[in-house]
Amino acid sequence: MTPHPSSAAPNDLRNQLYRYAQDMQELMEQHSRVQARYQAVLQSQGRASLSNDLLLVGIREGLTPYLVTDSSGMIAQVNACTEPLLGAPGPGLRGLSLMQLVPRAQQQTLVTVLAQLVYMNGSSAILQCQIGLYDGVEVDSICQFDVLIVPLQTYAKVEFFWLLHPANPDMPDALSALQQFNLLNDSGFGLLLTDASAAICATNPAFTRITGFEASEVIGRNPELLSAGRHDDAFYQSFWSELSTLGSWSGEFFNRRKGGQIYPEWKTVKAVKNVTGDTLAYLSVFADGAHQRVDTDQLARMAYHDTLTGLPNRRLLEDRVAQSLSQAQRDGLGLSLLFIDLDRFKPINDKFGHEVGDQVLQEVARRLKKSVRQGDTAARVGGDEFVIMLQGAVRAADVESIASTVLTKLGAPIIVGGHKLLVGASIGCARYPQDGGDMVTLLKHADRSMYAAKRFGGNHFCLHEGRGDLNGVANLGHDLWQALERNEMHLVYQPQVTAGGALCGCEALLRWTHGALGSVLPLTFVPLAEATGAILPLGDWVLDSACRQLKQFQEAGLHQLTMAVNVSARQLNDPDFPNRVCQILLATGIAPHLLELEVTESEALLCESDGQQRLQSLRALGVKIAVDDFGTGFSSLSRLHTLPVDRLKIDQSFVRDLATSLNARAISQCFVSLGLAMGLEVVAEGVETSEQYQVLTNQGCHLIQGYFTGRPMTAQALLAQFKPVSPALPL
Ligand code: C2E
Ligand code: MG
Ligand code: MG
Repeated sequence: MTPHPSSAAPNDLRNQLYRYAQDMQELMEQHSRVQARYQAVLQSQGRASLSNDLLLVGIREGLTPYLVTDSSGMIAQVNACTEPLLGAPGPGLRGLSLMQLVPRAQQQTLVTVLAQLVYMNGSSAILQCQIGLYDGVEVDSICQFDVLIVPLQTYAKVEFFWLLHPANPDMPDALSALQQFNLLNDSGFGLLLTDASAAICATNPAFTRITGFEASEVIGRNPELLSAGRHDDAFYQSFWSELSTLGSWSGEFFNRRKGGQIYPEWKTVKAVKNVTGDTLAYLSVFADGAHQRVDTDQLARMAYHDTLTGLPNRRLLEDRVAQSLSQAQRDGLGLSLLFIDLDRFKPINDKFGHEVGDQVLQEVARRLKKSVRQGDTAARVGGDEFVIMLQGAVRAADVESIASTVLTKLGAPIIVGGHKLLVGASIGCARYPQDGGDMVTLLKHADRSMYAAKRFGGNHFCLHEGRGDLNGVANLGHDLWQALERNEMHLVYQPQVTAGGALCGCEALLRWTHGALGSVLPLTFVPLAEATGAILPLGDWVLDSACRQLKQFQEAGLHQLTMAVNVSARQLNDPDFPNRVCQILLATGIAPHLLELEVTESEALLCESDGQQRLQSLRALGVKIAVDDFGTGFSSLSRLHTLPVDRLKIDQSFVRDLATSLNARAISQCFVSLGLAMGLEVVAEGVETSEQYQVLTNQGCHLIQGYFTGRPMTAQALLAQFKPVSPALPL
């Protein structure tokens, strides 16, 4: 039964508000932790090589300002948070010399440090430096920074990568952290942020909805302007004393709207402190307590949504499944339920505590929401259990494709409070009408299949084994060994083009058409082949087939085409691997420089040092080596230097948001510059739109691969699309 609003609202609302304020506080603390961690690195690594892990945390979260200059200090690139930090409106910082922003006394020190880095081959330098805040015309005030400088050297030129860390984190940082996470604007609660002297610095749209005041009318003023005069001095005394001793206050507060109407607020106020315990700001989170409107809305949400993640709860899921089932029965459509259980949630929760556990669940929820299509539902049904309802998806291949996306998304590390957590998930699936006609039966079957996936070692997906043709992944491992004999494997080729649009290479991608299940995605079977060892014969077959195909492309006139082949760490760890590559090159007559081996960033670093030696010896022969999925593996820049590499392939996750996100642009620019600075060719993968293509080519990316310039296709299709026109014969 739905609880009566007036009896249930206060406590539930108060809890929810409190949790919300805690989340905000957590964000602030996360910000401080990133800074503290950075500080620790600065202190511990006297001769530090920059950890890319740290760099990525900072850059991804948009909290670490950085810039790249040429050898004279001319600013070539800055990331999204640097310009607001250094205060550059209008033309921005590019093209300005960093030296112009540094007081004269410091310029000499800087020049000496830069010269030492270049001429004495230093790997990095750490120093304290004053940098001016530029108002577009002149430097007005000076701020102290801890600076880490890393030289980026190529044969041709030297550039410097500068990481800036404000020595005294204060209000602008806290604000930018909040804005960065976009929470001020998204929240359904009213938010009010004041500085330490209680002057209002920021509000959100819900604040305006509730109070009637626009942000511009209240910024800089004291929240007193909202006071309804209902509370006496004793009330305020206890309010401030709780806030200063406990750091937070929760309760009912009477305020007055702009129009004069007095209304109750359910309010939580938190003091936002920096690492040293000084109060930087007060954050007030509140809901309109004038019952009818707020309570019905809020209660409806609370009754049907999980308060921690905001996802639909079991009750809403049941409603939606019932609705969709009756629609499916009426229209003869299908429906699938994916039961998702996290693989390593419990140990993470036990080791790092509930707060970290909660954040992991929230991130999982965000990733699930992004994985499903419009009209589908992702719900949280238990501690670490989630269910996705897919409308209309009954073909094994469709369900599998979505399950693979979910597995990949949940397999990527989750970063909480400086910990890089690998959570992973197991997924079981049941489908209507094959596996049951009601929610209870379908959920039971999906749950059972999930356990089958767990028995497989986690990070797997199983379809319910209700009917002969629906055998799940559990048998795939076995079938993989026979796939070659049964002629079920083939290769497709995805074009790689230059910034000018000319075809220059292609990547061979493996495809499996399973006798009973139809097409199975590489994201499902490649990890399985790696786990079972079947990748060795398969990888060998791929190399051989790809080189033979390249020969045929050459014979058709595509003489300089390169062929990229994905290689797994398991293959690199095989001592016979370089010999096999040589044999294949000799047998097919392919020049080594036209073959490129793609190793993912994490695998390149994971494979044993012998494996890296093998890559080195192949490279000495002329074979090209590419780091695949660059940016996802958290490798360190210094390790990257030691790897035998010719190309970086920027992972598609960084390409996806290029057209809309400044941060994504900054990251891709950073990768392109890193690649260029290290003398490597840079390829962007997953380029789907002309906007992404434009941004990347403007940023200096050499090669483009993605649906925009060509999907993976058969060799015939590639030839038909790109076959060179024969020159007209001279008469
Ligand atoms: P990868 O090497 O990073 O390959 C790129 C993947 O992105 C391919 O998926 C490709 O079809 C997909 N892709 C290309 N352009 C776009 C685009 O514009 N948008 C989107 N959304 N996707 C795009 P695929 O073929 O499913 O392969 C997935 C992964 O499986 C590969 O990632 C690679 O790691 C692995 N793989 C594929 N073939 C082989 C193989 O022969 N051997 C080994 N060891 N791994 C392989
Ligand atoms: Mg690849
Ligand atoms: Mg890739």
